[in-house]
Amino acid sequence: MTMATNGGLGRKLRMGIVGGGQGSFIGRVHVTAAVLDNRATLVAGAFSSDAARSKASAADYDVPESRAYGSYQEMLDRERALPAGERIDFVTIATPNHMHYPVAKAAVEAGFHVVCDKPLTLTLAEAEDLAKVVAGSKGVFVVTHNYTGYPLVRQAREMILAGELGEIQAIRAEYIQGWLRTRLESEGQKQAAWRTDPTKSGAAGCFGDIGTHAYNLGRFMTGLLPEAISANLKVFVPGRSLDDYGHAVIRYENGALGTVTASQISHGRENDLRIQIDGTEGSLEWHQEEPNKMTVRHNGKPHYLYTRDPNAPFTNDAGKVACRLPSGHPEAFFEAFANVYRAGFDAMAQAATGGAVEKKDTVYPNIHDGVEGMYFIEQSVASSKVGGGWLPLKHPLARR
Ligand code: NAD
Repeated sequence: MTMATNGGLGRKLRMGIVGGGQGSFIGRVHVTAAVLDNRATLVAGAFSSDAARSKASAADYDVPESRAYGSYQEMLDRERALPAGERIDFVTIATPNHMHYPVAKAAVEAGFHVVCDKPLTLTLAEAEDLAKVVAGSKGVFVVTHNYTGYPLVRQAREMILAGELGEIQAIRAEYIQGWLRTRLESEGQKQAAWRTDPTKSGAAGCFGDIGTHAYNLGRFMTGLLPEAISANLKVFVPGRSLDDYGHAVIRYENGALGTVTASQISHGRENDLRIQIDGTEGSLEWHQEEPNKMTVRHNGKPHYLYTRDPNAPFTNDAGKVACRLPSGHPEAFFEAFANVYRAGFDAMAQAATGGAVEKKDTVYPNIHDGVEGMYFIEQSVASSKVGGGWLPLKHPLARR
């Protein structure tokens, strides 16, 4: 499909964002990713919880003052009142976690598609309620578990589902950071402050913020359904109330074992998300900080170093379509994020041209993945409270 036709839609999709104001982090990434393929344009925003800051932030995005709103409610009301040919098509939610549910629910009910950052909501109950609202709507709902967008992650998933590693028996996923080794939250660092506050972050800190990404990556790459979880979460930095370190062991339905380790307190570690998967016929390993390489190993054979190469015979279809540049030109965070948007846009264009929208088995992470993430968080916290006791992890709304 060419970018100009936008999946048969014949125009760009119009984006409104909640969050992404001056001094924030991921909102800007969302906007960059959304426009990367020339299929969307940002036309409106409620950029901040502070109305004046929201209006001040609009100019940074070339959004006219008339569409820089003082609140998300105002954005939804005013946009809905515009003619269909002008109003936004979708709402991106890049606020701290506690605002995901109210904004997402109101946006779906107002008839907009939604792209929501993770974790889906503050609580599992909110996530389950939101899933009902989404199921009853015609809208597309994307959750930005952006690591699923890397070409070699997509390639690995296709290889695993095709049986190239045999039966999967072990998944070791870890997401290791060091930035919260000290109490940054007491020094006015905004991102640290809300992430360590249970009223804004949710039941977990580190496990909600990054453990959930590591868990999702294993689910996405293998498709294995979880059965039960045993977790131990720790608060290592004195004075903090939410976990800043944790381990979980996961039993999968096919008998496989998985581990998730997440840390915010490991000196010198940046965004070290890595995953290792063992099958009966081979194993593979991928690191987010070196995303254009993946190692595949078979006993008795040389190790295979896969590179991100859209023209190589070893690159499968899922890997190829996730690439934009020839091999050797590094693609990374923005492009992977844009791949999640791209798959969401295909679905939005399909919806706009009268097609039925698939809600469960999608290329992009969806509401089901979001609910699973919230179940992972709440069961990890609950298991840790009882000393790592085993608790169920298969949610009735699980993807498949
Ligand atoms: P941040 O604190 O940098 O930015 C949050 C923004 O939301 C700010 O502009 C703030 O003013 C705005 N905001 C807060 N309440 C609002 C409201 N009621 N209305 C409008 N705007 C409001 O936070 P961040 O680090 O960018 O994280 C935002 C979200 O993105 C979190 O849910 C986080 O978990 C997620 N995140 C995801 C990734 C990823 O890789 N997918 C990376 C970082 C953050």
